[in-house]
Amino acid sequence: MLDIRNKKITIIGAVRSGIGAARLAKQHGAIPFVSDSGSEEKLKSSIDILRNEKIDFEIGKHSEKVFNCDLMIVSPGVPSDSEVIKNAKTKNLKIISELEFASSFCKGNIIGITGTNGKTTTTSLCGYLFNECGKKTYTAGNIGLAFSEIANTVKENEFVSLEISSFQLDLIESFKPKVAMILNITPDHLNRYENSVEKYAHSKLRIFENQNEKDFLILSKDSDLLNQYFKKAKSNIFFFSTNKKVNNGCYLENDEVRFVKNDITEFSCKISDINIKGEHNIQNAMAVIIAAKIFDLDNEKILEALKLFKGVEHRLELVREISGIKFINDSKATNVDSVEVALKSFDDPIFLILGGQDKGNDYSVIEDLVIRKVKKIYAIGSSAEKVFNYFHRKVKTEIKKDFNDVINAALSEARKGDVVLLSPACASFDMFDNYEHRGKVFKEIVNSK
Ligand code: ADP
Repeated sequence: MLDIRNKKITIIGAVRSGIGAARLAKQHGAIPFVSDSGSEEKLKSSIDILRNEKIDFEIGKHSEKVFNCDLMIVSPGVPSDSEVIKNAKTKNLKIISELEFASSFCKGNIIGITGTNGKTTTTSLCGYLFNECGKKTYTAGNIGLAFSEIANTVKENEFVSLEISSFQLDLIESFKPKVAMILNITPDHLNRYENSVEKYAHSKLRIFENQNEKDFLILSKDSDLLNQYFKKAKSNIFFFSTNKKVNNGCYLENDEVRFVKNDITEFSCKISDINIKGEHNIQNAMAVIIAAKIFDLDNEKILEALKLFKGVEHRLELVREISGIKFINDSKATNVDSVEVALKSFDDPIFLILGGQDKGNDYSVIEDLVIRKVKKIYAIGSSAEKVFNYFHRKVKTEIKKDFNDVINAALSEARKGDVVLLSPACASFDMFDNYEHRGKVFKEIVNSK
């Protein structure tokens, strides 16, 4: 545990994790100062809390005062290459992530989950399944609670299912999860790593750098980049794969998911027992099954939890079935890769809703899949024309004004057994506050029909 009594601590970022870190610092006798460059309007509720709790803060800037400290803590939303952090580094300040800070006060078993995609889904499935199996588990990080909010509360025999971004791993020193998971590594966020895949991969690999023989590491065997850059770990390694057999970990045999230890099967279930659909979700579930078996959780209960877990809102979420037509909300799919994953998850014909704020999408990545699986595209938002121009000679494509228009059209054009899929491949800011807002509006309209 860090001794921070009477120490001046600057916390960069005044949203949930920053406030959690400030409270934690105060509880342990330190003098916190919170700084956020965001607007007062956006941070209104944070300002109220900080005032109420008499925590010193500044909003709308990072003044010189931030550097007057013994320790700087960086919130998850703040990239490690932002100006204020770069400046702090030139002043030789001790700088750590909120993850590093909170973990030093956490006595429980941390299951740390990172990867380019699937973190939120896997973290919530892991928290859900462990709780269903009778293990008190906190779900924290980007979803659920901020790690700093609960770090003090978790008891030795309890668990934290923790979502971890690579920015937070950039600023660790002694962070050591009992179980570390790396779900996959694909080139994303490279701009933050000087466009180097190797640097990006290595930042994720730091999740196990402090682990020892008593700890566990769960890795994808299907991720080329991960296997290319993987360095030896001291911890016990389990793999998961939907393509190859493994000796320790999870793999597929026909329609069965198997967990093996030294080639001996200790758990198995049918693919159809896993309620969240798509190959990517089988991989996410496999990682969680391995974690469950590491702690010897009960097979019947694991199976029950896999059957019951409904997934996370806005990720391939079944909204409703109307006259045998399934309406799916995948508003979180803000890039082409996510749409690819979504299209692969359905065997039924798809009416695909594409468009929004375009981030330079290359639709050739999904062209073949779209031609094979999509009956019609509804193009919406500020990139509707781009979508139309790219696809209209290949697949029936129509520009629509808004979701109401789209859903009315789908209700008259789709048949029983078809899927109407909102998986827009774009950001939402042209029409909505964020992807959650877009998903909520879509669901409201579907539910109003
Ligand atoms: P993250 O928190 O890492 O962004 P989410 O669980 O929110 O991950 O999923 C975001 C999107 O990533 C999903 O809509 C899906 O398209 C895709 N995805 C989820 N799991 C995986 C996976 N294991 N491999 C590849 N893509 C995935």
